[in-house]
Amino acid sequence: MFSLLLLLATVVVLAVPIGPLHAQAAGAAETEAPARIIFEGVTVIDGTGAEPRAGMAIVVEGEEIVAVVPVGELADEQRDGAEVVDGNAWFAIPGLIESHTHLATMADRAQAEFLLNRMLYGGITTARDMAGDIRSLMDLQRASLVREIDAPDLHFSALMAGPRFFTDRRTVASAAGETPGEVSWMQSVTEDTDLVEAVTLARGTWATGIKTYAAIEGDLLTAIAAEARRQGIPVWSHAHVGPARALEVARAGVRAMSHVCGIGSAAIPDDLFREGQEGLLWGYFDVDLEDPVIDSVYAAMKRNGTVLDATLLLEIGADQRPLAETDTAAARRRSEFRDSLRARQGPRPTEPVDRQRLGVQASCENDDAFALTRRAYEAGVMIAAGTDERAPPDSVFPALYDGIRLLNEEVGMPMPEVLKAASLHGAVALGMENRIGTLEPGKHANIVFLSEDPLAGAESLRSVQLTVKRGTLYYRDEFVLGEPPGRPPG
Ligand SMILES: [Zn+2]
Repeated sequence: MFSLLLLLATVVVLAVPIGPLHAQAAGAAETEAPARIIFEGVTVIDGTGAEPRAGMAIVVEGEEIVAVVPVGELADEQRDGAEVVDGNAWFAIPGLIESHTHLATMADRAQAEFLLNRMLYGGITTARDMAGDIRSLMDLQRASLVREIDAPDLHFSALMAGPRFFTDRRTVASAAGETPGEVSWMQSVTEDTDLVEAVTLARGTWATGIKTYAAIEGDLLTAIAAEARRQGIPVWSHAHVGPARALEVARAGVRAMSHVCGIGSAAIPDDLFREGQEGLLWGYFDVDLEDPVIDSVYAAMKRNGTVLDATLLLEIGADQRPLAETDTAAARRRSEFRDSLRARQGPRPTEPVDRQRLGVQASCENDDAFALTRRAYEAGVMIAAGTDERAPPDSVFPALYDGIRLLNEEVGMPMPEVLKAASLHGAVALGMENRIGTLEPGKHANIVFLSEDPLAGAESLRSVQLTVKRGTLYYRDEFVLGEPPGRPPG
């Protein structure tokens, strides 16, 4: 049977014409997956929270893991004809999941490929894009699946928001050539919207989830979440989609909530918040983060199985960032923006619409963001590792490494839990926990091999040796940092 497969494979390879596509595939730094590969002698940290197991073999067939067993228990028929990769002294963890990225706000194929390539060779095998130009995202998704490009599997969202959000320049860019709010991947929704049709249209974009972004009332969000559940597509919401605040969002039963600082919105006094929504006030208000309403938010999230996509790297201010290398132009702009908001806090009845949308938000310094995330973790809420950030162009590692480090060192989550955040909980947000997120038979062969013990700390990720995505091998020493993106992140 095996030799017949080999013969067939040979015929197929010979039959491929020498054309541009073939040339591209040959140039890609990858190894064609044989029928069976055994990664032998590795220490497996399977991502379920189980103890590390040394001296293991991971058996991969095609795109799937078929066995994770002690080397001594490998059957002869498993060894027969298999390619063996010596993993002695290596640690194996599940492929990482970047739960919050933006690859096509303004579609730019070269820039997206640069970022995706760096992610993949850094051990990220799945990325969740949180709204952009879906025409570009679909193309990237397909190119990754057929291995035209070296990239993680890509999942993306169809956005819904209230009408007043669609003057935002990002929505204009992501709907280029069409009217933002009136395209299936960026829909303007109100209480009069036919939600059966709206959710159906969103599903028709091939999006994995619906992202609710802004200017949505609690009742409308609850109705969207209910219809999405009925049609089998997850809703990914900002923690604060003013008018709906974190408690209403949590109670709506969405699959994931992004941006931990938005959780603080639940503790803003009602009258202040209302004035903010009416455009009378805007800026940051010091809330009591010990307010029991925060506990109510987390209790609802835990009850509904809602994942917190904390995006700590985004939430911390540039000036207070512990790493100099994350001090990008975009981060500085954001910091200046925040400062100007604080400086000009007060009545602003004639401010433009986007300030009305921002309204009154909870003040959230670095330590507040860490404390809010820690409380979520202690309350038993699933935390995912999304960044909403980019590493500087000359960084050879993806931004996710810094996000992981913050969860470990600043939030205080032990590394086994951080690894869960960076894989299993990302899978839960995607609704794909049966296919990815842990090293178990029946799941995609998405595996990261490290030479240093990942339980020792986040820095160990930099010892990545090999990324396996759906059974295809990407050796770190074949990684070449591509051309840096042409424009600054934004
Ligand atoms: Zn985002």
